[in-house]
Amino acid sequence: GKGDLKGAIVIKRTIQKAAVLGSGVMGAGIAALLANSGISVLLLDIVPEDVPANETQHPVSKGNKLVRNRLSKDAIKRILHQGPAAFTSKRNVERVKTGNMEDDIAQLQEMDWIIEAVVENLEVKKNLFQVVEKYKGADTLVSTNTSGISIHSMVKERTKEFKSHFLGTHFFNPPRYMKLLEIIPHTETLPDVISLIKSFSENTLGKGPVVAADTPNFIANRIGTFGLLSTVHHMLESEWSIGEVDSLTGVLIGRPKSATFRTLDIVGLDTLLYVTKNHSNEIRGREAEVLQPPPFMEKMREKGWLGSKSKQGFYKKV
Ligand code: NAD
Repeated sequence: GKGDLKGAIVIKRTIQKAAVLGSGVMGAGIAALLANSGISVLLLDIVPEDVPANETQHPVSKGNKLVRNRLSKDAIKRILHQGPAAFTSKRNVERVKTGNMEDDIAQLQEMDWIIEAVVENLEVKKNLFQVVEKYKGADTLVSTNTSGISIHSMVKERTKEFKSHFLGTHFFNPPRYMKLLEIIPHTETLPDVISLIKSFSENTLGKGPVVAADTPNFIANRIGTFGLLSTVHHMLESEWSIGEVDSLTGVLIGRPKSATFRTLDIVGLDTLLYVTKNHSNEIRGREAEVLQPPPFMEKMREKGWLGSKSKQGFYKKV
């Protein structure tokens, strides 16, 4: 049980209860994936917009105006509307309880695994882990779903115990269908923690886990963002249309219809633009040049044309 080995490092053997922090595109999908595998899930987001800022005293949401547009109580509705449906049965829907970071944070104490899936921003994630450290159980595993921010930099200031139970678990979109899971250990992550997540993701979640080093954008997004932005630059030079590019990179070469821009609409343009900036000083030269998004993408973001999560993206929402 918990707390009966004071001072000793305690390692979990099973995962039955999980919390997912952030109920956006990925958090919602990950919550449904876990529920489909029989796990009880607590899905938390920041407080809704309609709560005046001065009434929110919690360190997480206080003054955090970054993304306050998603009501946690609407999360299930949103997951159900994610097509194709993320849940495999109605019963699984009931395994997910939703809440918010202010009222429900104390429940983190009981969790076997906490998965962070908030906005791709180092400062937001760092602040969140500082709070999670205070509330989590001694043996609770904590992971981040970051697309490519340094695992090390997020938890530099956390305790040794926190770091030993911390790692990156990068799910792909949509989590129910994408097999790949990148596992990114911290230099201090305990080997037993890595092997538990590896076997759990493989045997219980049905994923194909790959262990990646803590380098910018890890493996898939390091290659993926380069490929995607190269395509966009070529498109502009050659004056192709969005639809032409989707055909050329999709059906015409035997890939799914959703090839380039339809996929981007599912990912979210805001998230893509954050990920292209995850290169710090380690990426230089031609790769860094290609990763510079063209101005029209920044303009779309300014207008809020983010893709499926807004009303407009490269395609109009149907
Ligand atoms: P999103 O914008 O859809 O959702 C982010 C959610 O986090 C929002 O609901 C927001 O209200 C919430 N949030 C922000 N700050 C918070 C806080 N302090 N506490 C609790 N909730 C908070 O973003 P997303 O696409 O789901 O991305 C989430 C993470 O997953 C990012 O790190 C992203 O890079 C990564 N990721 C995204 C994709 C993708 O295809 N979109 C794929 C893999 C990984």
